Amino acid sequence: MRRKIIMLMLLPALMLLLAGCNEIEETFATDSQPPGIKEEETNSGDDLTTEDDASDEQENAKEDAEKEEETEGKEEKERESIPEDREEEIEYRVKKGDTLTKIAARYHVETEAIINKNELHNPNLIKAGELLVIPPPGVEIPVPDSLKRQKAEQPALREGGNKPAELDFKRMSAAQLINALSYMKMPIKGAAVTSVNGQLPNAPRSYRNGVHEGLDFYNTAGKSVRAVADGKIIRADHDFKEMTPKEYDKAIERAMAASITPEEILDKLRGMQVWIEHKDGVVTRYCHLDSISSDVKVGQSVSQGQTIGKVGNTGTKNSVVGENLSASGAPHLHFEIWYQGAFLGQGRPLSEVRKIYTQVLR
Ligand SMILES: [Zn+2]
Repeated sequence: MRRKIIMLMLLPALMLLLAGCNEIEETFATDSQPPGIKEEETNSGDDLTTEDDASDEQENAKEDAEKEEETEGKEEKERESIPEDREEEIEYRVKKGDTLTKIAARYHVETEAIINKNELHNPNLIKAGELLVIPPPGVEIPVPDSLKRQKAEQPALREGGNKPAELDFKRMSAAQLINALSYMKMPIKGAAVTSVNGQLPNAPRSYRNGVHEGLDFYNTAGKSVRAVADGKIIRADHDFKEMTPKEYDKAIERAMAASITPEEILDKLRGMQVWIEHKDGVVTRYCHLDSISSDVKVGQSVSQGQTIGKVGNTGTKNSVVGENLSASGAPHLHFEIWYQGAFLGQGRPLSEVRKIYTQVLR
């Protein structure tokens, strides 16, 4: 409203100033938009439009305005249905076509508030299905330490080219990890992250003095195991040989004697494996496999969703003795995500681990 009044007051002055310049008069005459829309162009003075440009522009402006009206009308309605005096945080699942700006407008908050609340490392990279916490309107959310750190590091990164922000499985927040790894998909079609705590990464494993380093997908016997993202095969146990019962017992015995399960033993207990290295250096491991696809060879590229093998139970006591001794030894995919000596979820409470894996694998 104020803008319109100012324009109306300015208009006669402008006309006088530009008297003798036909172009500007024609632009106004043929323009269906109110003068306010042209404010910047007429004020800038030195970029007066020519006749041809003006009619082109007019058409474009009309189309744009129609489109804008359409979406604005829809968004306006949505905005109206969301109370401005909301006092509680709400959870919002990102829809296709959403941008942070749109979501912020819809919930009457600043984009900064959403970025800070969710510790979004890359606000341009929100993914459909992602869960965001929307703070109440008018509440200022301080910049979290992790984002301050990222800002401080950014100049150095820029000098080194387009290097992505450094991953750190131990130091990054859950939200940052989800953001950085959400390029992954479920390793088994239609599977879901387990509701059983003992099948989560970082769950204790007292029988061998250690923790579970992967995520188990049970009730998936014989199903295809898929690459969670594009990458390169760095391990494929085509010539896998199962332990003998004696070797198995010895491995468990040695694990119990150690304060933490030695890697060499863990490796045997994971059975037949495929490892894939992804673009950011993250390695995913697919374990207890029953078989590995013949085209999966070390050094070769795989694409997201490509079948790399079948679910089995190699490396479990059931497989070693060839009997159905325990439910935990039933065929299942044991899936691990590693970066620089740490697995995803290491050292975190299981509720947080579940949240991270549920959001990363979709
Ligand atoms: Zn497992």
